[in-house]
Amino acid sequence: MEFPSLKSWFEGDEHYPFIIAGPCSAESEEQVLAIAAFLKSTGYVNIFRAGIWKPRTRPGTFNGVGVKALKWLQRVQSEYNLKVTVEVASPKHIEACLKHGIDVLWIGARTVSNPFSVEEISHALRGVDIPVLIKNPLNPDIDLWHGAVERVYAAGIKRIAAVHRGFSPFERTLYRNMPKWEIPIELRQRIQNLPVICDPSHISGRADLVPGISQKALDLMMDGLMIEVHSNPSEALSDSAQQLNFDQFRSLMTSLIIRKPTIDDKGFLNQLEELRNQIDSIDFQLIELVASRMNISEKMGKYKFKNNVAVLQMERWMEILQTRTEHGTLRDMEPAFIEKLMTLLHQESIRIQTAILDNLKTTGDHWSEEE
Ligand code: PEP
Ligand code: MN
Repeated sequence: MEFPSLKSWFEGDEHYPFIIAGPCSAESEEQVLAIAAFLKSTGYVNIFRAGIWKPRTRPGTFNGVGVKALKWLQRVQSEYNLKVTVEVASPKHIEACLKHGIDVLWIGARTVSNPFSVEEISHALRGVDIPVLIKNPLNPDIDLWHGAVERVYAAGIKRIAAVHRGFSPFERTLYRNMPKWEIPIELRQRIQNLPVICDPSHISGRADLVPGISQKALDLMMDGLMIEVHSNPSEALSDSAQQLNFDQFRSLMTSLIIRKPTIDDKGFLNQLEELRNQIDSIDFQLIELVASRMNISEKMGKYKFKNNVAVLQMERWMEILQTRTEHGTLRDMEPAFIEKLMTLLHQESIRIQTAILDNLKTTGDHWSEEE
């Protein structure tokens, strides 16, 4: 598979990093035009984004203004000379976008999670020459993401970029979506020269975390950023916590440190560096998991206090050791290593529970179910 670089998508587009920015959702004509006017004035933006059909996890939340916003986006094109992109989830959406001359389409995480939908969309794209952004699926299944790129490519679309927006965590983590950087890195190893853009807004879930994720993406030589920007984030009808206001966007753009890709590695890091980046990402996930484990230990400490149960229970500990070393063996790990690791975790858990117990005893506090 051969993919043209982002720079060659549109004539005269030489910016690096490639910046896609705009509100999570188009809300009104005034809002769309005000944000477009600002973004144009910064000189950093290649493409203006706005969702008009919003795929919501829960019903009853704002689900977009629909086709009427396509006219507002046409004004963005003609008045601000910006390219525009919209999320599409069905052949009907594609038809409406093509009718209105939308420049770029994007397929959202929820849609990419379903191969039936991706197949339908690919079918509708046959014979159309339009760039398509493909977000990663909600779950960290690289084959699903890879498969979506292959399906769209097979429809004859060559201008494709993958968008890394993180993966739904099974536990609450610092980020709304776990970055799992090892996955976009592996995708880039599998599909050489596929442009990869990072969406730090959906990874972060919080405006203050967006700069750190953006810089990390550039350090990993991603080709661009897709950032949510709103004229008044606190009033936004969707994703209000993660959208940047105008000042935040401008200061992010001026503070990013840009490492130019070297010419001979065509923008890819050397293998050792890629492997280190994968290890870094996995270590952060380990810490998140350990934090979840410690949280549960804390709850156990309170429960044991309430029910007058001893902190250390030998039988339970023996069972933990046995089942974990058995599982470790299945994954080719030395039992002695697993034993050391579990001992360390167990000791910390005992320390936390004992501290809670001491604290509850001295304060005379009683943990109640409502807490
Ligand atoms: C969005 O970009 O507003 C969006 C809905 O993103 P995702 O599909 O990544 O959740
Ligand atoms: Mn959003």
